[in-house]
Amino acid sequence: MGSVTFTTISNPTPLQTFGFVSVYPVRRKRTMSTIVGKGFRCDCCGETKHPDPDSCGTGYRTNEKGQKICYACCGKEDKEYMIENGRTVLYYTPAVSCTIRLFHEPAKISNWPGTLTFHPIYTKQGRHNIARSRVDVWFNGPDGFVWWGVQYGDFTQILHCKRTKKKT
Ligand SMILES: [Zn+2]
Repeated sequence: MGSVTFTTISNPTPLQTFGFVSVYPVRRKRTMSTIVGKGFRCDCCGETKHPDPDSCGTGYRTNEKGQKICYACCGKEDKEYMIENGRTVLYYTPAVSCTIRLFHEPAKISNWPGTLTFHPIYTKQGRHNIARSRVDVWFNGPDGFVWWGVQYGDFTQILHCKRTKKKT
């Protein structure tokens, strides 16, 4: 026991070797089990999906019926909901641009996993008596109609959307 301690302190090489041998296979094993363990079957398309183990996302959304819906199917489900109900809640991300890096990301309206996206045709910044600010957004919806969305306050991306009577 005494000699092991002495070796570790005086010469770091055995310690590194020990660390590599013991830690590396454990980490590798854990990653493999994460991939297998997180796999799920989408209740909508029936496909078994394995989300990226490096992302913290689950790869699915649970709907009101308790079904697991993959991100791709979330887009289809949200689109159908819009067509059927004429209103929905989406997320509004304003345009981001940087003139130095010549980078421009246009403003967008999307569902939660980002698998259903629209781009605004017109936006209007305004004031709101309680939330202090409001943004009104118009975009071409999935049903051939122009949709209108409104976001209240600076600390949210939630956009309350409604179909208008105007055709695209
Ligand atoms: Zn699916």
